[in-house]
Amino acid sequence: MSALIERVRAVRSRDDAVAIDRDDVLAGKREAFLLPAGVIYLDGNSLGPLTKSAAAQVERTTTIEWGEGLIRSWNTADWIHLPRTIAAKIAPLIGTSAHNVVVTDSTSVNLFKVLSAALDKAEPGRRVLLSEPGNFPTDLYIADSAAALKGAELRLAEDIEGALSDDVAVVMLTQVDYRTGLKRDMAALTHCVHAAGALAVWDLAHSAGAFPVALDAAGADFAVGCGYKYLNGGPGAPAFVFASDRHLDVKQPLSGWFAHAEPFAFERTFRPADGIARFLTGTAPVLSMSALSAALDAFADVDLRSVREKSVALCELMIALVEARCADHVRLASPREPHRRGSQVSFHCEEGYAVMQALIAQGVIGDFRAPDILRFGMAPLYVSYVDVFDAAAALADILATRSWDREAFRARAAVT
Ligand SMILES: *Cc1c(COP(=O)(O)O)cnc(C)c1O
Repeated sequence: MSALIERVRAVRSRDDAVAIDRDDVLAGKREAFLLPAGVIYLDGNSLGPLTKSAAAQVERTTTIEWGEGLIRSWNTADWIHLPRTIAAKIAPLIGTSAHNVVVTDSTSVNLFKVLSAALDKAEPGRRVLLSEPGNFPTDLYIADSAAALKGAELRLAEDIEGALSDDVAVVMLTQVDYRTGLKRDMAALTHCVHAAGALAVWDLAHSAGAFPVALDAAGADFAVGCGYKYLNGGPGAPAFVFASDRHLDVKQPLSGWFAHAEPFAFERTFRPADGIARFLTGTAPVLSMSALSAALDAFADVDLRSVREKSVALCELMIALVEARCADHVRLASPREPHRRGSQVSFHCEEGYAVMQALIAQGVIGDFRAPDILRFGMAPLYVSYVDVFDAAAALADILATRSWDREAFRARAAVT
C-alpha cells in the first residue's frame, strides 16, 4: 500500500485532511477553475466545471474571432484545424499519437461511426457485436442501430471473455462502468478479444482525463470519448474518435463534406480524406470547440500518474469516512480494490434520490443513478481532501438526522 493511501485511511479529523492537501502536488491546479464559493463539486464525471481559460477563450472566440474576424476566422483563427489541434492535446492523455485522434460530434454519433466501420472490417462469417447488458444505455441504443445497418446481431453477456465465440466480430466495452466505477483492464481484455479473432472498441467516457489511458499499448482498434466529463470542455462539448494505424483506411457511414479529401473542391463524388480526418462529418461547432481546446490546457503540465495517485487516494478517503459514519444507511457499490476502480465512488442507498437532493441543497454536488446509486466523481485537478472530508460529514449528518425525508427532495427533475 502506498504511503499516501495509508495516510488517507488514517484521517480522523478535518485537520488531518487539511494536512494532506498541504502536501498535494496538484493542489495549485484548482486555481485554473472557476468553482462557485460554497460548492463541493463531486460531479465532474458528468459535467466538468468551467476553467478560467475556457471562459476567456469563448469570450475571445465570440467577440474577436466571430465578431470582428467573421468568416475570415476559419483561416486567420485556424478554426478549420480545431478538430486536429484539439486532438493533439487529447492524444497524450489516451496514450496515442495525434494522427490517430480527431475531435468531432458527440460520443453517441462517433460510436455509430466506429461500430459500423469495425463491423465492415470483421472477418467474413463473424456477425455478432458483443457488449454487456450494464453498458451505458446510449452505447447499447447505438449498437442496435449499427448492428441493424450492417446486418449484425447485438449480443449482451455479463462474462465477456466467456462469450468470445468464433462468430463475434466486434466487442464494444466502456472502460469504466458509469454506475459502479468498475474499471476494466483494457490491455488484458483487448488481448483476449484479438486472440478470439474479433476487434475491440472502447468507450473512454469516464477514462479520458481521469487516469492514464494507453490505447496504443493495449492494441485497441477503435475508441470514442467524451469532451465534457473529465476533460472539462463544457456542456455538450464535442467528443473524440480514435482509430489505430491499422484502421485509418476504413469507411464510416456518416461521411459528410469534412471527411472529404478536398471539402472545398465541392466535387460531386465523395473521396475520403487520408487518415483520421475521414471520421469527420459536418462543420465543427466552433464556440464549443474553443471551450474544449482552452479547457485542455489545464492538463498541459500535468503528469497523469499523479492524477491517478490522487484519485485513488480521494476515493479511498471517501470510502473510509462514509463506511465509518454511514454504514447503517449505505453500502459500497464500487469495487473495493483501488486498481479495479475508475475515478468515482458509488454507494447503494435506499431513498438515494432524496438523499442526493438534500446533499446538493447543502452545496455538495454529486449525482444519483437509478435505481439506488449515490455517485461521487473525484476529479483530482480541483477536488481536495478536505472537500471529501466535508462531503462525507454532510452525508453522515443528512442520513443520521433524516433531513432528506421531505417531499421537496423526492420530486424528480428532468435531469438526474
Ligand atoms: C457520458 C457518456 C456518453 C455520452 O454520450 P453523448 O453522445 O455525449 O450524449 C456515452 N457513453 C458513455 C459510457 C457515457 O458515460
